Amino acid sequence: MSKQRAHKSDIVIIGGGMAGLSLACILSQNGLEVTCIDREDPAAMLKADFDGRTIAISAGSRTVLEDAGIWENIAKDGCAIRDIHISDSGSPVLLEFLSRDVDEDAFGWIFEARVLRRGLVQKAKKIKTLHYKAPASVKSMNVEDDHVYVTTDDGETIEASLLIGADGRRSFVREWAGIQTRQWSYRQQAIVCTVIHDNPHNNIAVEDFRAEGPFAILPMHDDDKGRHRSSVVWSEHDAKKSAMQWSDNTFNAALTSRFPERYGEVQLNGKRFSYPLGLVHAHAYISERTALVADAAHGIHPIAGQGLNLGYRDVACLSGLLIEAKENQQDCGSDQLLQHYQLLRRTDNMSMAAATDGLNALFSNPVTPFRLIRTLGLRAVQKFDPAKRFFMRQAMGK
Ligand SMILES: Cc1cc2nc3c(=O)[nH]c(=O)nc-3n(C[C@H](O)[C@H](O)[C@H](O)COP(=O)(O)OP(=O)(O)OC[C@H]3O[C@@H](n4cnc5c(N)ncnc54)[C@H](O)[C@@H]3O)c2cc1C
Repeated sequence: MSKQRAHKSDIVIIGGGMAGLSLACILSQNGLEVTCIDREDPAAMLKADFDGRTIAISAGSRTVLEDAGIWENIAKDGCAIRDIHISDSGSPVLLEFLSRDVDEDAFGWIFEARVLRRGLVQKAKKIKTLHYKAPASVKSMNVEDDHVYVTTDDGETIEASLLIGADGRRSFVREWAGIQTRQWSYRQQAIVCTVIHDNPHNNIAVEDFRAEGPFAILPMHDDDKGRHRSSVVWSEHDAKKSAMQWSDNTFNAALTSRFPERYGEVQLNGKRFSYPLGLVHAHAYISERTALVADAAHGIHPIAGQGLNLGYRDVACLSGLLIEAKENQQDCGSDQLLQHYQLLRRTDNMSMAAATDGLNALFSNPVTPFRLIRTLGLRAVQKFDPAKRFFMRQAMGK
């Protein structure tokens, strides 16, 4: 039988993914004692076949990664997005965003999820005030008047003022707290893969809105053999014979036909990954001594590449409130602090969830009037400078 051990922290975070571990690193370097628990083995999470996603990190999220203390180490691995081209079902470019139009070097940077995770895990292991437990499973959780207690399967009990659920879309903390959600499936899946192509991408990201869902091409650094690389997010409706099952030859031919001609021939480079797409939004982000952040609170369609960026806005907001409370020797799990967090974050997250939901509905509709409306809409934004600037600033997370 395992021996009972006790550990005191200010904050206990369940979920050491990209959001949870970033939050843990920020708080623990700013005067708070933090425990972060993840059920996955970090060594497994860092393997190439764990997660094929690349993540578009906005300028706003860069600040979070700087605060977490990892930006300096990972910056060279991020490939800058200088321009964004938007088209409709393989049409010529209908809307073009140029970072130089808003006096910026880049709209954001494309990182392999693995690179972000590696940077965070390496950092977490070095911080003395961060008790990083992974792999570890939560056995029980209890809230009492002024503390929360989390016991893990190795017999350790962590006592903290606040419990944070950063445990993703199917949040166990959310369920345990009895928080209901509004959620639905898009009956779409995203196929994600890395490809190599004949010609350079020139740091352009492409979003082609197709009837089966958006098809995105995201620039990556050349590989060590000098081959030009991009990441693909190919959404498709649930189908009997998904493109996941196509032979490599068929898949490569379909890739080449979907890419703009200037890329030349396109070839799959490695495994295909698939992610079911859906929306989930928690009715509340808080309950007694408990807060939810990132996908545990809101998971959205990746159509605009904003899921983690939105989660990082939660991280920035909650970490700011907690650091201030600690500095002022106030209770980090007080109802007042939690209400303030929820008030600051819900509207922003709901607006982005609604916007991505609407975009997906409008752009995945093959009916002619819808196609006409969106073509006109994209052309109108292209010609109307204030609207264009608004969307560019949104893309940068500003
Ligand atoms: C195809 C695709 C492309 C995307 N592209 C982008 C993009 O370009 N830009 C962007 O901003 N976002 C993007 N996103 C969204 C982004 O991937 C998510 O928003 C992000 O991964 C959420 O991070 P998280 O830390 O909240 O959750 P997760 O990444 O799901 O991490 C949750 C963590 O909690 C742990 N956990 C779960 N349950 C437990 C438990 N019971 N006990 C202990 N630990 C637990 C898990 O092991 C995991 O490590 C994309 C999503 C998809 C599907």
